[in-house]
Amino acid sequence: MLSLEAPQQTSAQPLTQTQRILVVEDEDVIRQMITIALEDEGYEVLVAKDGRTALSLLEEAAKNSSNPPIDLVVLDLMLPQVNGLDICRLLRYQGNIIPILILSAKASETDRVLGLEVGADDYLTKPFSMRELIARCRALIRRQNFSTEISSPCRKYQDLTLYSKECRVVLRGEEIALAPKEYRILELFMSYPKRVWSREQLIENVWGADFMGDMKTVDVHIRWLREKLELDPSQPQYIITVRGFGYRFG
Ligand code: CA
Repeated sequence: MLSLEAPQQTSAQPLTQTQRILVVEDEDVIRQMITIALEDEGYEVLVAKDGRTALSLLEEAAKNSSNPPIDLVVLDLMLPQVNGLDICRLLRYQGNIIPILILSAKASETDRVLGLEVGADDYLTKPFSMRELIARCRALIRRQNFSTEISSPCRKYQDLTLYSKECRVVLRGEEIALAPKEYRILELFMSYPKRVWSREQLIENVWGADFMGDMKTVDVHIRWLREKLELDPSQPQYIITVRGFGYRFG
């Protein structure tokens, strides 16, 4: 019997994954203390001693989706090259919604307000306790994960989006109605784009190993799915027939 892992985890980013924090701080002692404290909490820490390095690390993480993402930036304000406020401003201007915790030696209310105005999520004035810093980091990451989970489409391919938690499928801006098995096939396909599935594998994953019916059942469901998804079901762009093997998505 073929056995394939059924993808039950629908969140794009499992919560068990190690979270990465970028610490941008030019003062060696403070940077090292923060790094140690965060690593003790199980976070992976990247460091930058100046604004330009910070921006290039963030850019790299954002442009290459195969790299693990950076989940939070701990950002000092007074930095060589590019200062913290400008980094904040630039990231938000670029549409980057990464959580930012500003660290500042300046205690004045104006700086705090300015920091939050340019798009920082939270603000901590030096000196601060490591316990306080960790609590703030944790809260920001949790908030971000939560909002990503509820707002982001779970699976997207071209103009087709599948919202796993809501069992909804939107195609070219309109919701389409799928029967439960059709939905399950599509969810499986979209979880593993380009992967080729044999009829047996689809039966096992969608109908279950004890399914007694005919393998043609798969072809019938694929035909129904294509009629609902494809602009031209005879020239499918989503569900492709792989001759001699089965089907693949995309
Ligand atoms: Ca500084």
